[in-house]
Amino acid sequence: MTQSRAAVITAHNQPLEIQSLPIPDLDPGAVLVRIEASTLCGTDVHRWHGPLGGGDSLPIVTGHEPCGFVEAMNGERKDILGNPLKVGDRVVWSYVACGQCYWCTVAQQPCICPGRASWGHNRSDQFPYLLGSVSQYMYVPAPCHFIKVPETVTSASAAASACAYRTIMHGFDKLGAIKSHETVVIQGSGPLGNFATAVARDHGAKQVLVIGAPAARLEVTKRMGADAVLNLEEVTDAKDRQAWVLDHTDGRGADVVFQTATGAATPEGLTLLRRGGRFMNIGAGGTGNIPVNGLPYEMTFHTILSGEPRHWLQAIDFLSTRKDRYPFEEMITASYKLDQVNEALEAMASFKVVKAVIYPHQ
Ligand SMILES: [Zn+2]
Ligand SMILES: [Zn+2]
Repeated sequence: MTQSRAAVITAHNQPLEIQSLPIPDLDPGAVLVRIEASTLCGTDVHRWHGPLGGGDSLPIVTGHEPCGFVEAMNGERKDILGNPLKVGDRVVWSYVACGQCYWCTVAQQPCICPGRASWGHNRSDQFPYLLGSVSQYMYVPAPCHFIKVPETVTSASAAASACAYRTIMHGFDKLGAIKSHETVVIQGSGPLGNFATAVARDHGAKQVLVIGAPAARLEVTKRMGADAVLNLEEVTDAKDRQAWVLDHTDGRGADVVFQTATGAATPEGLTLLRRGGRFMNIGAGGTGNIPVNGLPYEMTFHTILSGEPRHWLQAIDFLSTRKDRYPFEEMITASYKLDQVNEALEAMASFKVVKAVIYPHQ
């Protein structure tokens, strides 16, 4: 085996090409993974439509949410828990920070390391070619941390943990404990919002309220542990949505608001927060101006980017140990073969599916 079929963006807004790319020799410590499942996310759609910041240059293998089996290793490797990694292990793996800069060593904030490597935006005509997940094989650079996926977690859900779910774990980590008297409001009912609903419920919130759309997604949200949901398409006035939250919180507002929708939802989210509450701002895109003068007194505003290696582990553990409590598989709503990558991206772009999964060997 010397080639990998992969979905390549050769021009923005044009159909992706399925190309055969070389499988390179492995540098010391590097690992080759046979991809079992790659989920797609909104970022893949944005990258396809046009370059994202940081100067993406084409051609690139799309996708950054992989789960697969270890195919080959150059040297001995261990997983994140210190167990030996073996050929045939089913794994996900974290991004790589440089380990040398101010953010890595002094601030201990590796997610904002300027030299951080990530997937789905690297040139596919340069070594090591295979750094996107919609491909039969992926090259995993030596510094990445591996997390073994237990049998109780499907490859599709494990793949989604490589982006959406580990980001949510990072958010809750930064937020600190959710106390048993606290109300959490979640804005958004996509994979981020629905996973956050389950984690907030699990972490002991008194009640979890979710504002999202459409109705079909909110049905999943309820099964993910929401006490009450509000459909944005039915309650179209932000004032009425604020009144709904105030009604559920004795007029105070939420102790915690988790924005997982879009930056455009942030100003409204701030009106749902009580004085002294905590706001976690995750959903990107959109333009929302935050009125600094009108912010609730003594509130805390958090932002995060991506996740640290331990958040990948936390997401996989959560999927495995809570699988009987929450219907995680309902968030992955459509599956495709490699040759159907354009169809899958179109379905994501038009919000026809919540999360699409591609099986590159089918
Ligand atoms: Zn993603
Ligand atoms: Zn660094």
